[in-house]
Amino acid sequence: MKDRIPAHGSSKRGRQPFGASLPALARSIGCALLLPLAWSAPASGNARSAEASPGGAARVALPSAVTPEHYRIDIMPDAATLTFKGSVDVDVTVHRATSEIVLNSADLVIEHASVLGRGAVQAIRYDKEIETASLVLNRALDPGAYTLRLAYHGKIYQQASGMFALDYDSPKGKMRALYTQFENSDARRFVPSWDEPGRKATFELTATVPADQMALSNMPIRSTNVLPGGRKRVHFATTPKMSSYLLYFGAGDFERIHRSVDGVDVGVVVKRGDTGSAAFALDAASDILPYFNSYFGTPFPLPKLDLIAAPGSSQFFGAMENWGAIFYFERDLLINPRISTERDKQGVYLVIAHEMAHQWFGDLVTMAWWDDLWLNEGFASWMENKVTDHFHPEWKIWLQALADKQSAMQEDARDGTHPIVTPINDVLQATSAFDSITYSKGAAVIRMLESYLGEDDFRAGVRRYMHDHAYGNTTTDDLWTAMDRDSQRPISQIARDFTLQAGVPLVTELSRRCSGGKSALGVAQGRFAIGGPAATAQLWHVPVLVAPVGGATTAIVVSGPDQQAAEVAACGAVVINAGQSGYFRSRYSTQGLAAIKAAYGALSADDQLGVLNDRNALANAGVEPMAAFLELTKGFPEDADPVVAATLAGQLQGLDMFYDGLPSRTAFRAYARRVLDPLFARVGWEKRPNEGDNVALLRASLIAALSELDDPSVQAEARKRFDRYVLDASSLDAGTRRTALGIVAAHADAATWEQLHRMAKSAATELERGELYDLLAAAHDETLVQRVLKLAISGEPPPTIAPGMIDAASYRHPKTAFDFTVAHWDAISPMIEPTSRPQFVPRLLDTACDPRLLESLNAFAERHIPSDARQALRQTEATVRYRAAVRQDRLPEVDQWLNNQPGG
Ligand SMILES: [Zn+2]
Repeated sequence: MKDRIPAHGSSKRGRQPFGASLPALARSIGCALLLPLAWSAPASGNARSAEASPGGAARVALPSAVTPEHYRIDIMPDAATLTFKGSVDVDVTVHRATSEIVLNSADLVIEHASVLGRGAVQAIRYDKEIETASLVLNRALDPGAYTLRLAYHGKIYQQASGMFALDYDSPKGKMRALYTQFENSDARRFVPSWDEPGRKATFELTATVPADQMALSNMPIRSTNVLPGGRKRVHFATTPKMSSYLLYFGAGDFERIHRSVDGVDVGVVVKRGDTGSAAFALDAASDILPYFNSYFGTPFPLPKLDLIAAPGSSQFFGAMENWGAIFYFERDLLINPRISTERDKQGVYLVIAHEMAHQWFGDLVTMAWWDDLWLNEGFASWMENKVTDHFHPEWKIWLQALADKQSAMQEDARDGTHPIVTPINDVLQATSAFDSITYSKGAAVIRMLESYLGEDDFRAGVRRYMHDHAYGNTTTDDLWTAMDRDSQRPISQIARDFTLQAGVPLVTELSRRCSGGKSALGVAQGRFAIGGPAATAQLWHVPVLVAPVGGATTAIVVSGPDQQAAEVAACGAVVINAGQSGYFRSRYSTQGLAAIKAAYGALSADDQLGVLNDRNALANAGVEPMAAFLELTKGFPEDADPVVAATLAGQLQGLDMFYDGLPSRTAFRAYARRVLDPLFARVGWEKRPNEGDNVALLRASLIAALSELDDPSVQAEARKRFDRYVLDASSLDAGTRRTALGIVAAHADAATWEQLHRMAKSAATELERGELYDLLAAAHDETLVQRVLKLAISGEPPPTIAPGMIDAASYRHPKTAFDFTVAHWDAISPMIEPTSRPQFVPRLLDTACDPRLLESLNAFAERHIPSDARQALRQTEATVRYRAAVRQDRLPEVDQWLNNQPGG
């Protein structure tokens, strides 16, 4: 799954309104957990199996006396009434004599249950809390093979969990299409099932749908029967053995474009009329499939692979890797040349790559339990960059991915972090594991390990792992075992240090000596932590690359607080973490930092960015003076790589947000504009002939930052272009259009806001409608934000768009959005998928700087957030405290530094 967490480099968990974009592009993913827990299940007949876990709580899992082999599911959805009828025959194996069969079921009513040849069951007992149904048998079943037959009915939801309906406008009028979303644990809302990743089985689906609709599942259609009453019965081929959360069903007025790639029928499925926006995705998928067939050494095992686009959005995710039937919300798949920007294009490519990587890592080989979710998400997040870099080196995606690592390290340095591998006891906890630690730290650690091991050896290990575990389940240690077999450089020790422990290592240069043209550095390993309690000492084996500018690299493994030596064959500037593939922060001696500053323009773009990110983070945390960061902004290289320059713009914009309401903001803004002006002078408003793709990203970031920093000429120019666009939509290219709209929306007055509102209501496509509704929430003006919040719950915007508007409003107005949401929780909560509810409200405060708000948040949590689902709450608490500390303690340092500047 690709979640919607942060945009790169943002202090807010992603999702800032269109046009308010801080630098980076891709939305990041991620989560991770492992734990070498015995996975054998407990006594039969007890739905709540009590496996001990390191947290001391019991894991809620199904008993293992009975396991599924094959499901024959037959469903009859009634889209109009949002209900469906179903029946299922499950071939099962009984391993131990049992008088009860326990499986998962949520919101389903089982009308009839029997064991074929043994008659109806005696009773059905539901446990709503842990979402099980226990079928009590007349007499015990001996070990052997049986078939269980169930007839049931259930609900079709209007948010993305279980089977759900999405409504949209079309030239034919209001339309409704059906889709499913089962990760992490919602297949149980579709079919009574063993809904845990370790209970793999084969699935054979039959569905009755309107005759004029297209029906989709993981596998191709095997046969279709026309029924009376304008309906048809569609029978899909049997899937390979797989986990229940990967099952998929969809039906609607769809169109499909497709081509054969390496013998696989690759398709993009869209609402009728949208095929013009699907070509980019089909081309991308056609690039990527052969690359993965070769990389993994096991060809894609299904006969077809669909990428399916749906209107709207989710608070929880952007796309889902159902095997052979990948689901995307439109903004993560469709590229409309009229409105989609360079950033959209690169983002879509990455999400396609991410979900396709899951077809192997996740679908073919699956984690045994949610503790190891990071195996799926960390790996797919790393691989999306690897394959994108292969086909689009001009995007410098690894350089951009440093922003994901940055977000993960910020999270990982604070209270509320967790190890990549974390005990997960139940479904709600599994939901909270989809965070930037799992995705982005997971990806960064894999990148570090690949760099340590070498690309070829790492790939050989991945191929062994795929080969050995195809159609099976694994734990994290299975991956390290596959890597270490036949390897000269075992990685298990390093891998365990970084996956089983939370936190960010800090590598500090304690001393340096230069003689005979060589530098001898003394370095030691500590921990980078923001705030007190997280700062306990911790030991890692950290692979560190050290290099002088343009010189040969020295590799060492640094561990512990004692000084360790690193020699490089040059004096002057020496970069610690050269190439920036390591997951740690670097701190230099005074002398070392001065040399780096002097040579900054000559560093590689990776190292420029790494040095800048470390200074920004260490200064904000009070580990280094703010001056160490600010000195780098002086005389910043005007020819810096677009990604590096865009990051600087985002950091200055981020610092500006801390100044909200302070009089010294004016002086800071004047300085920040002086830093950015020369960079903007080089790129301007208009795309230039032959400019690199990433210049468009830089242009958007600089214009957005300068506008936020109150540059009147940029704001006026945006307004001028917007006015022209309203008269003539073809007057702006897609990139300028988005930028101008974002600025005008941010600075809107009531009349402009109404104008944007009318544009949203009459938008030509759902993609554009979602974009414009989000833009309404970008307004600085407090009264307009009140208006957008009321609009969100008015019923006018669809329920898949409305929560995103509230979230977008919280970016600039966290308290207002929070207060409104708490006051209207009864109206808002039904619009949010159950899985996202524990996170939604805490995250509204992620840009707040006032710790007093945490009291209100905790009062809300007491009433509405289960005590074992408060990971996001703890993260938000740490974030708000951190932001308050920066505002109170760091800004005076910035003000003082500015006072000391000539002309400042
Ligand atoms: Zn994923």
